[in-house]
Amino acid sequence: YGVPGTAKERTFIAVKPDGVQRGLVSDIISRFERRGYKLVGLKLLVPSVGLAKEHYADLSSKPFFAGLVDYMTNGKAPVVGMVWEGPAVIKQGRVMLGATDPKAAGPGTIRGDYCLTIGRNICHGSDSAESAQKEIELWFGGRGEVVDWASNNEEWV
Ligand code: ADP
Ligand code: MG
Repeated sequence: YGVPGTAKERTFIAVKPDGVQRGLVSDIISRFERRGYKLVGLKLLVPSVGLAKEHYADLSSKPFFAGLVDYMTNGKAPVVGMVWEGPAVIKQGRVMLGATDPKAAGPGTIRGDYCLTIGRNICHGSDSAESAQKEIELWFGGRGEVVDWASNNEEWV
């Protein structure tokens, strides 16, 4: 799951179905790559209802929960799930995404640049070390599908 607070910190970032449908996968990957973060997990899938409900378990009492699960799982487009590694990637990943409500997201952030609707906000990022561990386990089977590799990027960025 990475080691929070070190260069091996890891977070779970996803491009939600609307981001995939709108052709924003490459832009979102590119922003993390150029920042100097390392891609250590990547998959394309239509998540099961069970996976989506577990992922958003903290929100299960919210009025928008059923719609949120449907949006993630109805298969109109898949989700791109990723694990990114690097210094402060959990916090900086959230900064790069922008505020949950795109109307409050600053320019230069993914949500601030590409969307306006809270229920169609293109991307997900873990909000804490605990969430990152839970979500990497859930989407990638813990370390099982995450690849450790040495990047000489660390010499330059
Ligand atoms: P974040 O994705 O920034 O971590 P939350 O964890 O609070 O935000 O919410 C998870 C997701 O639920 C949001 O990204 C958004 O897709 C959806 N959501 C949150 N609030 C609302 C809302 N009021 N109406 C519809 N969808 C919402
Ligand atoms: Mg959240």
